Amino acid sequence: MTELSLDAFVHAAENVPYQQVNSELIPNIDLWVRRDDLIDPIISGNKAYKLIYNLLEARKLGKDTIVTWGGAWSNHIHATAAAGQRFGFKTIGIIRGERPPVLSAMLQDAERFGMNLRFVSRQKYQQRGHQGFVESLGFSSSCYFIPEGGANYLGAQGILLMADTIQKTKPVEFDEYWVACGTGLTVGGLCVKLGEKSTVVGVPVLKAEEQIEANAQNWAATFGNGSCTCTIVRNAHLGGYAKQPKSLLGFIKLYEKYTTISLEGVYTGKTLKAITLKSEPQPSAKHCRKSVLMVHTGGLQGRRGVLCK
Ligand SMILES: *Cc1c(COP(=O)(O)O)cnc(C)c1O
Repeated sequence: MTELSLDAFVHAAENVPYQQVNSELIPNIDLWVRRDDLIDPIISGNKAYKLIYNLLEARKLGKDTIVTWGGAWSNHIHATAAAGQRFGFKTIGIIRGERPPVLSAMLQDAERFGMNLRFVSRQKYQQRGHQGFVESLGFSSSCYFIPEGGANYLGAQGILLMADTIQKTKPVEFDEYWVACGTGLTVGGLCVKLGEKSTVVGVPVLKAEEQIEANAQNWAATFGNGSCTCTIVRNAHLGGYAKQPKSLLGFIKLYEKYTTISLEGVYTGKTLKAITLKSEPQPSAKHCRKSVLMVHTGGLQGRRGVLCK
């Protein structure tokens, strides 16, 4: 995408490839991966979808500055900074914690993309949901604000667009859709459009499964007719957010080699691992093996945190 337009975005989304995984690797299921990590070279994965309608709205309102927040390895911060540079918005990132002597690779990118980083104490950051938080940091209401992770109403519209695109472009009928979850917005949004005929499964990457499940059902209820329920798996976080045990890194190396699909250890590696662990040999009603689609939600720039060391 070189210009900010819905048409250009839809075009990119409709051209995202589906890749079938060698069946010898996961014999029980017919596994495909939708490569949303490839939707754009820099503004990647589900964060691109959560941003698109927010960016269009900011432009429509004539806002020149976008303010958002996140942690030192936030894919959303990275995507917002890149989008600001590409489409001509100033960007401000409110980052949790003190400024470290050496910035994370992700924040170095964000600065290079022109984002103005403002570090706030963890205590202060805790108040981000409260009224008056942004005012207390001295921002004027002329800025356009996007919450952490891009999880707002317009962010959800982008995920619904992703789900519509999947309906339109899927190469086969899928029995199950699997996706990593942080806030639960992506799984909830996919569930609205894909959950009636298929099972939509979310893999929480942090120890907050109940909260994530509640969020996902909430989003699904906001946009759906109340009939869809997504399945949120338990204990797939492997110790907690961004915890990457050696066994996970070994798994990623092996599967990257055999599938040629790049993964990272925070979201997509844990999701594929959960799929392999939970793929029971059940014939589906439609095929002799269950057909499963994993949505690759991107985040590969985060590999520099662990996998390159
Ligand atoms: C943010 C993110 C997610 C989580 O999406 P939610 O909508 O917050 O559940 C999953 N995968 C990657 C790579 C992400 O960056």
